[in-house]
Amino acid sequence: MALEIPDGDPPVAIDLDRASSLRLTWADGRQTTFSIETLRSNCPCAQCRSERDRGQVPWPKATLVDQELRVHDAELVGNWGLQVTWHDGHSTGIFSWGVLRAWAGLDDPAAGTSEEQTDTSDR
Ligand SMILES: [Zn+2]
Repeated sequence: MALEIPDGDPPVAIDLDRASSLRLTWADGRQTTFSIETLRSNCPCAQCRSERDRGQVPWPKATLVDQELRVHDAELVGNWGLQVTWHDGHSTGIFSWGVLRAWAGLDDPAAGTSEEQTDTSDR
Protein backbone atom coordinates (compact mmCIF):
# COMPACT_ATOMS: atom_id res chain seq x y z
CA MET A 1 0.00 0.00 0.00
CA ALA A 2 1.13 3.52 -0.70
CA LEU A 3 2.23 5.62 2.16
CA GLU A 4 -0.13 8.36 3.11
CA ILE A 5 1.23 11.63 1.79
CA PRO A 6 0.37 14.65 3.92
CA ASP A 7 -1.75 16.98 1.87
CA GLY A 8 -0.10 20.03 3.38
CA ASP A 9 3.49 19.08 2.71
CA PRO A 10 4.82 22.53 1.77
CA PRO A 11 7.56 23.38 -0.71
CA VAL A 12 10.92 24.38 0.69
CA ALA A 13 11.21 27.31 -1.71
CA ILE A 14 8.64 29.48 -3.46
CA ASP A 15 9.82 31.59 -6.34
CA LEU A 16 7.11 33.81 -7.78
CA ASP A 17 7.56 35.91 -10.87
CA ARG A 18 4.46 38.08 -10.74
CA ALA A 19 4.35 38.49 -14.50
CA SER A 20 5.02 34.95 -15.61
CA SER A 21 5.35 31.95 -13.36
CA LEU A 22 5.42 30.30 -9.98
CA ARG A 23 8.26 27.91 -9.25
CA LEU A 24 8.12 25.58 -6.30
CA THR A 25 10.95 23.50 -4.91
CA TRP A 26 9.80 20.50 -2.91
CA ALA A 27 11.46 18.78 0.00
CA ASP A 28 12.63 15.95 -2.26
CA GLY A 29 14.48 18.45 -4.48
CA ARG A 30 12.06 18.33 -7.39
CA GLN A 31 10.98 21.62 -8.90
CA THR A 32 7.69 22.40 -10.56
CA THR A 33 6.87 25.52 -12.50
CA PHE A 34 3.37 26.77 -13.26
CA SER A 35 2.66 29.64 -15.58
CA ILE A 36 0.41 32.19 -13.95
CA GLU A 37 -2.05 31.67 -16.80
CA THR A 38 -2.27 28.02 -15.79
CA LEU A 39 -2.89 28.98 -12.19
CA ARG A 40 -5.54 31.52 -13.05
CA SER A 41 -7.37 29.34 -15.54
CA ASN A 42 -7.43 26.51 -13.00
CA CYS A 43 -8.27 28.76 -10.06
CA PRO A 44 -9.87 26.50 -7.45
CA CYS A 45 -12.30 29.03 -6.00
CA ALA A 46 -16.04 28.44 -6.15
CA GLN A 47 -16.62 31.28 -8.62
CA CYS A 48 -14.11 30.02 -11.17
CA ARG A 49 -15.20 26.43 -10.69
CA SER A 50 -18.77 27.38 -11.55
CA GLU A 51 -17.56 29.33 -14.59
CA ARG A 52 -15.72 26.25 -15.81
CA ASP A 53 -18.81 24.16 -15.11
CA ARG A 54 -20.72 26.46 -17.45
CA GLY A 55 -18.08 26.00 -20.12
CA GLN A 56 -16.52 29.41 -19.57
CA VAL A 57 -12.91 30.07 -18.79
CA PRO A 58 -11.87 32.13 -15.76
CA TRP A 59 -9.10 33.61 -17.85
CA PRO A 60 -8.81 35.40 -20.21
CA LYS A 61 -11.91 37.42 -19.60
CA ALA A 62 -13.51 38.92 -22.67
CA THR A 63 -13.92 42.24 -20.90
CA LEU A 64 -10.26 42.37 -19.88
CA VAL A 65 -8.77 41.01 -23.05
CA ASP A 66 -6.27 43.84 -23.40
CA GLN A 67 -4.96 43.39 -19.89
CA GLU A 68 -2.00 41.18 -19.22
CA LEU A 69 -2.43 38.72 -16.43
CA ARG A 70 -0.34 39.57 -13.41
CA VAL A 71 -0.10 38.49 -9.83
CA HIS A 72 -0.65 41.43 -7.55
CA ASP A 73 0.20 39.64 -4.35
CA ALA A 74 0.49 36.18 -2.88
CA GLU A 75 0.61 35.02 0.68
CA LEU A 76 0.89 31.77 2.51
CA VAL A 77 -2.24 30.36 4.03
CA GLY A 78 -1.16 28.58 7.16
CA ASN A 79 1.03 25.70 6.15
CA TRP A 80 -1.11 24.29 3.40
CA GLY A 81 -1.31 26.62 0.48
CA LEU A 82 -0.88 29.91 -1.29
CA GLN A 83 -3.53 32.57 -1.74
CA VAL A 84 -3.00 34.58 -4.89
CA THR A 85 -4.40 38.05 -5.46
CA TRP A 86 -4.59 38.87 -9.16
CA HIS A 87 -4.18 42.25 -10.79
CA ASP A 88 -7.93 42.44 -11.40
CA GLY A 89 -8.65 42.01 -7.71
CA HIS A 90 -9.63 38.35 -7.84
CA SER A 91 -8.30 36.74 -4.68
CA THR A 92 -10.64 33.98 -3.59
CA GLY A 93 -8.61 31.12 -4.98
CA ILE A 94 -6.31 29.28 -2.60
CA PHE A 95 -3.88 26.89 -4.23
CA SER A 96 -3.18 24.15 -1.72
CA TRP A 97 0.15 22.38 -1.92
CA GLY A 98 -1.68 19.11 -2.42
CA VAL A 99 -3.47 20.46 -5.49
CA LEU A 100 -0.29 21.93 -6.94
CA ARG A 101 1.55 18.66 -6.36
CA ALA A 102 -1.27 16.79 -8.05
CA TRP A 103 -1.24 19.17 -11.06
CA ALA A 104 2.48 18.59 -11.36
CA GLY A 105 1.92 14.84 -11.24
CA LEU A 106 4.15 14.44 -8.21
CA ASP A 107 1.66 12.40 -6.25
CA ASP A 108 0.16 10.51 -9.16
CA PRO A 109 0.34 6.85 -8.15
CA ALA A 110 0.43 5.88 -11.83
CA ALA A 111 3.35 8.18 -12.63
CA GLY A 112 5.91 5.54 -11.80
CA THR A 113 4.51 3.08 -14.31
CA SER A 114 3.37 5.31 -17.17
CA GLU A 115 6.22 7.77 -17.55
CA GLU A 116 7.05 6.29 -20.94
CA GLN A 117 3.73 7.33 -22.39
CA THR A 118 3.81 10.05 -24.99
CA ASP A 119 2.25 13.19 -23.62
CA THR A 120 0.64 15.39 -26.24
CA SER A 121 -1.06 17.73 -23.79
CA ASP A 122 1.46 20.51 -24.32
CA ARG A 123 0.04 21.57 -27.64
ZN1 LIG B 1 -11.14 32.05 -8.90
